[in-house]
Amino acid sequence: MSPEAPHSPLSILYRGRLSSCNYDCHYCPFGKQRDSRETLARDEADLQRLVDWAEQQQRPLQIMFTPWGEALIHLSYQRAIVRLCAMPQVHKVVIQTNLSSPARQLQALAHPKLALWCSYHPHEVSLERFVQRCHSLQAAGIRFSVGSVGNPEDIAALEALRRALPDSVYLWVNINRDEQHTLTPAHWQRLRTIDPLVDHNSKIYSSLGRPCHTGDSVISVDGDGNVTRCHFVKQSLGNLYDGSFQPSRQPCPNQGCDCHIGYVHMPELKLYEVFAGGVLERIPAGQ
Ligand code: SF4
Ligand code: SF4
Repeated sequence: MSPEAPHSPLSILYRGRLSSCNYDCHYCPFGKQRDSRETLARDEADLQRLVDWAEQQQRPLQIMFTPWGEALIHLSYQRAIVRLCAMPQVHKVVIQTNLSSPARQLQALAHPKLALWCSYHPHEVSLERFVQRCHSLQAAGIRFSVGSVGNPEDIAALEALRRALPDSVYLWVNINRDEQHTLTPAHWQRLRTIDPLVDHNSKIYSSLGRPCHTGDSVISVDGDGNVTRCHFVKQSLGNLYDGSFQPSRQPCPNQGCDCHIGYVHMPELKLYEVFAGGVLERIPAGQ
C-alpha cells in the first residue's frame, strides 16, 4: 500500500456472486432470476469473509454493495451491514437496493454510517408503496438517494415521484444509452427539472489515459476477493485476502466511462465537490 494508506479511506465496491432479483424489469437480465441454494450459501460465506477481513483492518474503509440483482432482501446482507456499521474503522456502508424489503427490516438497519442508493422501478412497484418506503427511511433517520432510468415513457412517473418526495431527498436520473437518441429537448427540460444534475449522466466521458482515483483509493472486489480498479476494467490488482492486492495509480485504460459509480472518481470532473459527503451514495453536497 502507498505510504499514506493508513490515513486515507479505502472505498470498496463489492459485487459478489448473487445475481437474482424479486423484480422483473424488462431490460434487466436478473429480473425474476433465482439463485440456487448453493449460490446463496456461497454468496453468504463470501460476504462473511469480506466482513471478517474488514474487522482486521486498521485503515479507514467505506464499503458499497453494488450487487447484480437485489441483495438487501437477504438476511446475510442485512447482518453484514449491521456488523460493518459497528466497526470503528468502517466510516460508511452503502447498498444499492430496489427498496422492496419490508419497512421494519429497513428501519432495523438504521445507523448514521448507513446510506442507501434506492432505485425506483415504476413498472414493478406502485408510487404509493415506494414513497411509503422512503418515508420509513426518513422516519428512521437513514440517509438515501432515489433514482430511476429516464426513459421517455417513464418521465411522468418520475415527475410524480419528485412531487411526492420532500425536496430534501435527491432524485437522480440515469440516461439509458440505448434510448438517449429518442429524448427531445422537451424531454431534457423535464428531466432537468426532476434532476438538476442529470447532465452529468448524459455523457460518455472520454477516459482513456485520464486520471481516475480507482485502483488507489477506490477498488472493486468480487466474492473471491479478487480486486480490480473498478467494475469496468478487468485487469487484476491482486487479491484482498492473500495479501497480493497492490494499489495502483494508473490512468484509465478504457475509452469511455458512463456510469456514476465509475466517472464520479475522475478528478477532472470535480464531482467529489458536487457530491461532497455523498459520493458513493450519490447524494449531492448540502442535500
Ligand atoms: S430491480 Fe434492479 S436488479 Fe431487479 S430486475 Fe429491476 S433493474 Fe434488475
Ligand atoms: S474512468 Fe471509469 S472505466 Fe476508467 S478506471 Fe475510472 S471508473 Fe474505471
